[in-house]
Amino acid sequence: MTRIANDPSQFVREALAGFVAAHADLVRAVDGGVVRSAPAAPGTVALVVGGGSGHYPAFAGVVGAGMAAGAVCGNIFTSPSAGQAYRVAKAAHRGGGVLFSYGNYAGDVLHFGEAQERLREEGIDVRTVLCTDDIASAPPDELDKRRGIAGDFVVFKIAGAAAERGDTIDEVERLARLANHRTRTLGVAFGGCTFPGADEPLFTVPEGMMSIGLGIHGEPGIRDVPRAGSAKLARTLVDALLDDVPEDRGTRVAVLVNGLGTVKYEELFVLYRDVAELLGAAGLTVVEPEVGELVTSLDMAGLSLTLVWLDDELEPLWSAPAYTPAYRKGALQVAAPGDVQEQDAAAQTALETPAASDRSRHAAAVALPFLDAARATMHENEAELGRIDAIAGDGDHGVGMRTGIDAARSAADPDAGLAAMLATAGDAWSEKAGGTSGALWGTMLRAIGRSLDQDDADPRVTTVAAARAALEAVTARGGAGVGDKTMVDALEPFVRELEARLASGAALTDALTAAAEAATAAAAATSQLRPALGRARPLAEKSLGHPDAGATSLALIATSIAKTARKEER
Ligand code: ADP
Ligand code: MG
Repeated sequence: MTRIANDPSQFVREALAGFVAAHADLVRAVDGGVVRSAPAAPGTVALVVGGGSGHYPAFAGVVGAGMAAGAVCGNIFTSPSAGQAYRVAKAAHRGGGVLFSYGNYAGDVLHFGEAQERLREEGIDVRTVLCTDDIASAPPDELDKRRGIAGDFVVFKIAGAAAERGDTIDEVERLARLANHRTRTLGVAFGGCTFPGADEPLFTVPEGMMSIGLGIHGEPGIRDVPRAGSAKLARTLVDALLDDVPEDRGTRVAVLVNGLGTVKYEELFVLYRDVAELLGAAGLTVVEPEVGELVTSLDMAGLSLTLVWLDDELEPLWSAPAYTPAYRKGALQVAAPGDVQEQDAAAQTALETPAASDRSRHAAAVALPFLDAARATMHENEAELGRIDAIAGDGDHGVGMRTGIDAARSAADPDAGLAAMLATAGDAWSEKAGGTSGALWGTMLRAIGRSLDQDDADPRVTTVAAARAALEAVTARGGAGVGDKTMVDALEPFVRELEARLASGAALTDALTAAAEAATAAAAATSQLRPALGRARPLAEKSLGHPDAGATSLALIATSIAKTARKEER
């Protein structure tokens, strides 16, 4: 439970402001998170970490020399937006490229992925290494499906040290990946955590039990077992971790005993004593262990054990000095805070876009009524889309689509030209709407803008190219295929029907109408499917018999586009 707060809705903002005030010599606030106040040497790689708040010291607490260049700070347990990640990365970039590193969660992957694409369009070399250390979250043959928990810290430490040393972006990325690959964690919870302002914890652990395999967002463990003394708990954790090791594991391990929020340091030390004894008995040498709070989950009662299988490359980086608000190691010369105006000016330069051609401005003006029509449809159907999403999701799809398209419309400026207008509109959509669908619609608008602006040829050709670009962008970003019960199930038949009709000589408006009908039928047919992705997946059975919310909204928008095309034709 949270004892100190003003307005709970302002908790994250106020905590971050206090954090920055307390550590002004090391960090400064930027729109979306924090960056170092004394930036690293020009030309070095900027490690940008992030995720939801509620995990301190992750993520803002490890910004500083020898570790991260910036941290993107979302709301509690909520992915930051693509815009936030983009802006923090711009402010942190020193000319040597950006490495994004964060825990493997769908929302973060979508939003950081979108930011990566935007930065790359501006010529910044951006790479991503996901943290996947939690052995409870997927079997060893599906390492890339695992989520990131306390092992995030290890990847940040090693990548940050490589960046500080002046390694190239290729090297920093490779070493971060290696560190992640050789890091494994297992956690245990004794009690859940409670959101600021809430009365009830997100989950509870039955009296006398402990829950093995906890997550760091209040996800309960995967199995409850009777609570045990420290020696037995150490044995459970060590045995599981020694059963799940990388190839060529070696005999030198870094060890993290991480408190999740309300386990005392002394308790962690008791456990560490038992862990160290077991590791010694297994013939392993422990290298520079960390015992304390590194990645927390609000006030969760729990802890985790992490083993990092060091090799000759990783060990010096693990041992290297660091100087950050929450984590300090060895001795490092810390530079004085830099000139903020000079840094911000450098970050702004790439933002200027060339003036749009007349043709592009005209195309943008033609596109506006389509955006208006889609917006009207989302307003009309907000309640219904919310109702559908509530059946097996979280009920926010109507609000999300309405908020997103409102933001997109207000940001759309035809004077910027079509590609820039849709890019700005897409950014606004993903920024304001949040959620999976917000990120994906933002991605689609940007992709459509790019495809339309390249060619002023036959609208029959550009329309198909735009639809195809949207489909490719959504599948590339979200990874869903046909049959997974997502918006892709409506978009794919839309594109297919449009192409087929135009190929057989139909007029553009007729082809659009037929394509919208195909999308509508396909959206309805998703009732028969079980969701394979997204929030609805764990509720697959509940979802059967009901259409997918995102497919339904997509079909509604497709229909509004077809109707508008017919109106404009007259
Ligand atoms: P959230 O799931 O974050 O609450 P919304 O409720 O706004 O976001 O949107 C849910 C819709 O997003 C789903 O109905 C589905 O159509 C779509 N969706 C979820 N995951 C994916 C994905 N990986 N690819 C494509 N669409 C997806
Ligand atoms: Mg939802």
